[in-house]
Order: sequence, then structure tokens, then C-alpha cells
Amino acid sequence: MWCGPSRKVKLDVDLTKYHGHLVPGVTGTMIPDRKCSMWGSQDRFGAVRFDCCGITMDIVIRNLTFDPVPDLGDGAIPAK
Ligand SMILES: [Zn+2]
Repeated sequence: MWCGPSRKVKLDVDLTKYHGHLVPGVTGTMIPDRKCSMWGSQDRFGAVRFDCCGITMDIVIRNLTFDPVPDLGDGAIPAK
């Protein structure tokens, strides 16, 4: 189960045997504190909602690439 913040991810592997849309490069969003199957209680899995059709599945986290955190630098107002 993923316990971090919600993050955009990209799938690195072919999981079409589990869901026909899950080819390498498909994008989705990590869903914190969610498990979809018995596997989801393990640390190495995280629930991902894929952009293909909205299906949510437990995915091995090392098979995912995390999008960089957005850089808020220039637009941020510095604290005084
Ligand atoms: Zn799909």
C-alpha cells in the first residue's frame, strides 16, 4: 500500500495479461492509503488509477516511474 502523497506515475512494464490497456508508458496516479487486492497490503505494491479507462490496480512500485514533483519555484511567494 502506498502511504505517500498522490503522484503521477508511468508504467515501465507490460501488464496486459492483467488488463489489456497496461502497456509500457501508460500513465496513472498513485492513490494513497488504498489497496485493491490481497497484494495491496504489502509495502512493495501501491494502488494506481490508470488514465486508460480509470481502472485501479495494485502495482509493484519498482515497475513505476514517478513524474518529477512540479517545480513551484518561480511562482512561489517568499515568506517574510
Ligand atoms: Zn484500461
